[in-house]
Amino acid sequence: MRVWIDQDLCTGDGLCVDHCPDVFVQLEDGIAYVAELGEPLNDPGGAGSLAEVVARDFSAVVQAADVCPGECIFIELSEVTN
Ligand code: SF4
Repeated sequence: MRVWIDQDLCTGDGLCVDHCPDVFVQLEDGIAYVAELGEPLNDPGGAGSLAEVVARDFSAVVQAADVCPGECIFIELSEVTN
């Protein structure tokens, strides 16, 4: 699973950070960004802002996307290989 935020739509309410602080962070601009291995990816709209999500955070990330008032958290599911 990978996730990114469209910062243009983010309201800065911080609900995503409440749900999953491992993956979502708010920077000084008050806007939310995704983080990977603890490092915020602050390349809004760029390919560099797509964070890989570890399995233990899957459900929290889905919940965050569900409650996000800006509807600006986007999840991409990786293909399952057998
Ligand atoms: S929940 Fe959505 S609108 Fe709120 S801070 Fe997070 S990304 Fe932005």
